[in-house]
Amino acid sequence: MIKELIGRGFMVTINQSVDFATASDVAGAFNVQVSPKAMDASEGVIAAEIEEEENLRPRPPVVTILGHVDHGKTSLLDAIRQTNVTEQEAGGITQHIGAYQVEANNQKITFLDTPGHEAFTAMRARGAQVTDIAVLVVAADDGVQPQTLEAIDHAKAANVPLIVAINKVDKADANPDRVKQQLAEAGVVVNDWGGDVEAVEVSARRKTGIQDLLETILLVAEIKDLRANPNRPAIGTVIEAQLDKTRGPLATVLIETGTLNVGDFVAVGAVPGKVRAMFNERGKRLKKAEPAMPVEILGLSDVPQAGDRLHAAPTEQAAKMFAQQHAQQISQEAQAVARPMTLEEMFKTDNQVKDLNIVLKADVQGSLEPIQVSLERLATDEVKVKVIHQGTGNVTDSDVLLAQASHGIIVGFNVRVEPGAKRAAESASVDVRLYNIIYDAVEDVRKALIGMLEPKFAEVHEGRAEVRQIFGHNGEVAGSMIVDGRITRNAIARVLRGGKVVSEGRVESLRRFKDDVREVLAGYECGIVLSGVANLQVGDVIDTFRKERVAGDVPL
Ligand code: GDP
Repeated sequence: MIKELIGRGFMVTINQSVDFATASDVAGAFNVQVSPKAMDASEGVIAAEIEEEENLRPRPPVVTILGHVDHGKTSLLDAIRQTNVTEQEAGGITQHIGAYQVEANNQKITFLDTPGHEAFTAMRARGAQVTDIAVLVVAADDGVQPQTLEAIDHAKAANVPLIVAINKVDKADANPDRVKQQLAEAGVVVNDWGGDVEAVEVSARRKTGIQDLLETILLVAEIKDLRANPNRPAIGTVIEAQLDKTRGPLATVLIETGTLNVGDFVAVGAVPGKVRAMFNERGKRLKKAEPAMPVEILGLSDVPQAGDRLHAAPTEQAAKMFAQQHAQQISQEAQAVARPMTLEEMFKTDNQVKDLNIVLKADVQGSLEPIQVSLERLATDEVKVKVIHQGTGNVTDSDVLLAQASHGIIVGFNVRVEPGAKRAAESASVDVRLYNIIYDAVEDVRKALIGMLEPKFAEVHEGRAEVRQIFGHNGEVAGSMIVDGRITRNAIARVLRGGKVVSEGRVESLRRFKDDVREVLAGYECGIVLSGVANLQVGDVIDTFRKERVAGDVPL
């Protein structure tokens, strides 16, 4: 078989695996038929993700800290970490590995060490939801701020319960009651206001209220009844990964279920490996890691990506196979994602979208509510319409992330898209639609829901050229100077003479010296041949345009 494979250009060794199509081809050469067989747990390959109820044991909660900038997220994470250093570990140097564990009332709690809703939702957008509980930090002197509201919506969209930590209560101008009132206005009603959200007053600086906060987290965790099976091969998620110059690829993995042992073979996303060593956040060597424990692992063949899943495998072969399958899956998914999911397509018959999640941005507060009401009123028996986040100001990166993680769209009213967010939306295929007429926005969504919204295109001016010379056998080549923008092959072209359009066609070919080129920029001369246009004259102006999809009634 190896000879046969090498003959086909596969340089393989005896213990290497090949994909099914190749295996099937090779078998054909020996007149043997093969059929694919799914890997399953009974063969000791990769254990299934579904758990038997009786094998589940309580596991620690995984907590993320959210909140407005400067309200004390980092300080709170530090304060929690410091109050919890046990005697023998006190000398150890804490390292940032992306997560850490502390103890309260003899129970463990895991904190993700990258605070903020951007990181939280970025993980979710990658398909990994590791957080069980979100702690919302609000500074008692500053109150609810725009990113506080954003954080609330991001946690809600992820269906993660909130605990409020009212921070900086040591400050003279601290006003916890005002914070509670503002939160109530934002739909987060705390306990002593008759709601069901726990709130704790803390000072990250003075380290007060920390124990209270930890106990509250345990209380909320208990209600969630978080459980996992420690007696099975591990499954986890990569929180952080990097290449260390001396130690090689390092990944911090949060174990979700099962126990990971030193010596285990693993597939981490598309990367196979064998766990050579594991460390906790204090650099202490560990032999095993149980559910909800964050560990830094050594022994991967390459650097995986944050959000990648780890699967322990019984053999090296199984780990490699699993990693390889994952790599194939990624490339297939990447191709699928490349096709954007626009509002126009979402509710066409072949797409089974059941909810339309909308991130709504407007220039002023007063516009948000009426637009939200009008949009949500469009819901039908088949499709729910939900504004998962609304806020004033331009469309930002974090809006794009939220829409991506929630498979939704963004509707902007009298706002613009920030440059970074525009790039992010393009690469994540998030449909951003801008309007300055409310009726148009509502009407587009209404039509989309019944599969009747058709894509709109607009002509965008691309470039301008002045004809300086005519040549070619039939006078078909216009020797021109590009005076503005760029001229590209296949662009729509209009010829102006004396300020009036005299003819329209397409850019058939572009030449610089002897070469055919795709485009020519302003400041250069070139030869242009237009199709569908006759009788070009010296002094004519050629304006070119391209067609672009327009989402909404304002271009991005
Ligand atoms: P983050 O942006 O939310 O991570 O906020 P930081 O943790 O960086 O804190 C922002 C600022 O607030 C820093 O100058 C902290 O020293 C200060 N700070 C944080 N917590 C407290 C607190 O409990 N009391 C007081 N007075 N200042 C605090």
